[in-house]
Amino acid sequence: MRRSKQNYRCSFCGKDKSEALILIAGVEGHICEVCVEQAVDIIEEELYGNKKQQQEQKTTPPPAAELHLPDNMTPVAIKKHLDLYVIGQDEAKKTLSVAVYNHYKRLGQPSTDEVEIEKSNVLFVGETGTGKTLMAKTIAKFLNVPFAIVDATVFTEAGYVGEDVESILSRLLQVCDFNVAAAERGIVYIDEIDKIARKSDNPSITRDVSGEGVQQGMLKMLEGTEVNVPPQGGRKHPEQKLVKVNTQNILFICGGAFDGIEKHIARRMNTHVIGYKSDDATNHVIDRDNLIKYVNHMDLKRFGLIPELVGRLPVATYLEPLDFDTLRRILTEPRNALLKQYTKLFSLEGIKLSFTQEAIDYIAKKALEFRLGARGLRSICEAMMKDAMFELPSQEDIKEFKVTETYAAEKFERSKFGMLKAA
Ligand code: ADP
Repeated sequence: MRRSKQNYRCSFCGKDKSEALILIAGVEGHICEVCVEQAVDIIEEELYGNKKQQQEQKTTPPPAAELHLPDNMTPVAIKKHLDLYVIGQDEAKKTLSVAVYNHYKRLGQPSTDEVEIEKSNVLFVGETGTGKTLMAKTIAKFLNVPFAIVDATVFTEAGYVGEDVESILSRLLQVCDFNVAAAERGIVYIDEIDKIARKSDNPSITRDVSGEGVQQGMLKMLEGTEVNVPPQGGRKHPEQKLVKVNTQNILFICGGAFDGIEKHIARRMNTHVIGYKSDDATNHVIDRDNLIKYVNHMDLKRFGLIPELVGRLPVATYLEPLDFDTLRRILTEPRNALLKQYTKLFSLEGIKLSFTQEAIDYIAKKALEFRLGARGLRSICEAMMKDAMFELPSQEDIKEFKVTETYAAEKFERSKFGMLKAA
């Protein structure tokens, strides 16, 4: 009997050829990849019973990682925790605290409820080195959920060289040792989301490989769906075993510098002011030096994010550029502040290390001068402290060491780093 092509189905589960990734033909029938996997599991269980049990243990979430927030958890408590690690950025911390609170509250709701609370993925807009990753990392650690950082620039549209969008989740699976249940309520930070913006003024007739296609690819994942994830990342290939991950409860935090978005903000705000007569109290106090604080979804679309993606990142907030005072505070205030780390390191050698206020100001000033943001603080300190870290451990008579501005300046200026001209 001749069978037409569209009649090919898995003889075990009945799945149609169009729904299966692979349909293997036998003498009398067919089998899809899912049934093959199940058959392998059955064989393993029958022949090597134990192995299967071990596998099951892996997919049960660890008891420490609860789905719900603790009872006494509130947005204020979440922000207080962020305050311990992230200096300034009050608006972003507040916004993130509320988003995270709502997200994990939502997980506690029965799915039969009439009103279904939608996911609130977050978008951070702010210069590099202002604390976007730090904020996402801190919140994940606080909630004790798996956390992965991925870079949007390595992804390309299916069929092109680069990684498949699905491999965003491979990183998450890897950090929780392939515990799918744990991964399904984790947090993913997608960095450099601005680099996959559509370049509308690009005259090239070739397809926008790394831009719009990737954004399209991310839509379903951000919204919540079952994704077939290549466990080792990279590109999917037919022989690979894929892991099904449901992204319904995964919180996605996207971040980017969005260089040049200020011009879209300025343009929008100018029209706004003209349109509404500027004697309205809210209109004439525009902080023109820090337009980023007015960023909204319209600007993001103008920048090149497709409307569907913007829609799936309903919570957008900004991080302010770090000024001198914030940089100074970053050096000393966070729980694991850089200068606290040096002090600890020296105390292990039995040396009491201290920094004068002028020395701290000097470091912050240099970071600002070199336009290095908070990320530069470490390199400056390393350059400055290298000699002391090299010499002091072998000088047993030294029990105290004070870093003054003169010492800091001398060491820094003599370092390779200090010899570079500030930008
Ligand atoms: P990005 O905004 O590029 O993601 P990061 O979060 O990676 O920046 O910040 C780089 C480093 O600078 C962090 O490891 C952190 O130590 C420091 N840092 C940046 N911003 C802050 C901040 N607001 N408070 C405390 N530390 C900060």
